[in-house]
Amino acid sequence: MADFDFDLFVIGGGSGGVRAARIASGHGARVALAEADRYGGTCVIRGCVPKKLLVYASRFAEDFADAAGFGWSLEPPRFDWPTLIAAKDKEIARLEGLYQGTLRNAGVTLFSEHATLAGPNGVHLDKSGRTIRAERILIATGGTPFVEPDLHGREHVITSDEAFHLPQLPERIVIVGGGYIAVEFAGIFAGLGSEVTLVYRGDKVLRGFDEDMRDALTEAYLARGIRILTHHTIPRVEALDGTRRVHLDNGAHLDADVVMYATGRVPNVKGLGLSALGIECGWNGHVVVDEEFRSSVPSVYAVGDVTDKPQLTPVAIRDGHAFADRVFGGMTRDIDYEMVPTAVFSTPEIGTVGLPEHLAVERAHAIDVYISRFRPMRATLAGREQRTVMKLIVDRESQRVLGCHVFGPDAAEMVQMAAIAMRMGAKKADFDRTMPLHPSAAEELVTMRSKRPDKGA
Ligand code: FAD
Ligand code: NDP
Repeated sequence: MADFDFDLFVIGGGSGGVRAARIASGHGARVALAEADRYGGTCVIRGCVPKKLLVYASRFAEDFADAAGFGWSLEPPRFDWPTLIAAKDKEIARLEGLYQGTLRNAGVTLFSEHATLAGPNGVHLDKSGRTIRAERILIATGGTPFVEPDLHGREHVITSDEAFHLPQLPERIVIVGGGYIAVEFAGIFAGLGSEVTLVYRGDKVLRGFDEDMRDALTEAYLARGIRILTHHTIPRVEALDGTRRVHLDNGAHLDADVVMYATGRVPNVKGLGLSALGIECGWNGHVVVDEEFRSSVPSVYAVGDVTDKPQLTPVAIRDGHAFADRVFGGMTRDIDYEMVPTAVFSTPEIGTVGLPEHLAVERAHAIDVYISRFRPMRATLAGREQRTVMKLIVDRESQRVLGCHVFGPDAAEMVQMAAIAMRMGAKKADFDRTMPLHPSAAEELVTMRSKRPDKGA
């Protein structure tokens, strides 16, 4: 269409947008992409990657302590937060450059500025004031942290965005929330030496995860000295001289150097021009799309955290890829949103794929449950009272493995592999027939022989 400047205009250079732009360009489309901040988006700049680097940093504390049991003696180790943050920033800058390079090499035209919708085929570039015409537009603007708007003293709290750039390690930190980010950052700060208090409104952190994983994590965190206050909300946060005072709903208060809110993320759609165009949005403002990623305006599509899909990088990437293949390559790609492996990078970590026990039961499956709790080998000489927990949920009738849950070191790595077998429809007998790899923790997944007695039995 000669009338259009581009075949595709992508708004947002994060996981989903970058993949969609690159693949569409590979299919021969003329593609442009606008990024208002830094290329790579949440995952690379302020999410998965810097988070995992901080997780690695935090785990050295246990490594140093455990080393003594294996005959090592060390000077008391010292940790320097600014050194870690500078090293992390350098790596993130390198990755950002790679993302930009990949897009340029793929022939994508880049606009490093904020963009808004200007009609079903128009994108307005706010800095340069230009309006670009594109046959199709992809919204891939991701999400942003949510903090309760009614919270008094909202300006005194930070979110994960700022946690990556604190000038110094807080001596005391209060983290609010009980999901992925709250639990991961509680582990990070505790490992680095902060005194951590987690405040959660519910009865147990990680709602939605398998109960045995939630229990194991809670127990391990309490043993690590992380304070977990459940059934609490926070009406007010106050700034005192150099301190933050967190007022709890029961009248008590907590003092800390930093208060971090990790109470979910909302789609990044503010000021994008969705309502002017009549684009249908869902319960939390997300762009409603059909199975072809198309919004209620046929020339406008959306992928990633701005939609209602699981807020995970691989999902945004798969969706971006599938969108580009479908629209510009005439190919369809099936995406299984049920069997999505995911990990909570706590220490120890949780890896999980498929159904937790409560969901399997809710979906009217008669199930067999296999569960194993053991002390990992390394913990023996280290003198650490640590437990690994592994759990398989098996459909009683078909014997298919419906869920695999692991709490312990390297859980994420194990579960990624188990996910392949489960995706292929593996049955419990296939796990049993697999030769164990010894000595490893993962071998327990193929040697669990006894069913847990039925609850209530
Ligand atoms: P994003 O990556 O958020 O990209 C959106 C981009 O659009 C941003 O760069 C933004 O600047 C840009 N943008 C927004 N509006 C405009 C506009 N109007 N004009 C131009 N540009 C715009 N997922 C995992 O799978 N594993 C993890 O371990 C993990 N850890 C995480 C840790 C943290 C602390 C956080 C916050 C998230 C984590 N996630 C993790 C989630 C993961 O980062 C997201 O699911 C993923 O980045 C979503 O990709 P996206 O492309 O939808 O959006
Ligand atoms: P989550 O949805 O995981 O958790 C949000 C937490 O905040 C829940 O405990 C929730 O409680 C609580 N909460 C929500 N609203 C309020 C409120 N108004 N007041 C008090 N508490 C509240 O969100 P996160 O922010 O931790 O992370 C966002 C998403 O990013 C995750 O869902 C995940 O998809 C992705 N992510 C993935 C990671 C990974 O793969 N390792 C790591 C980090 C993020 P309740 O349970 O009661 O609803």
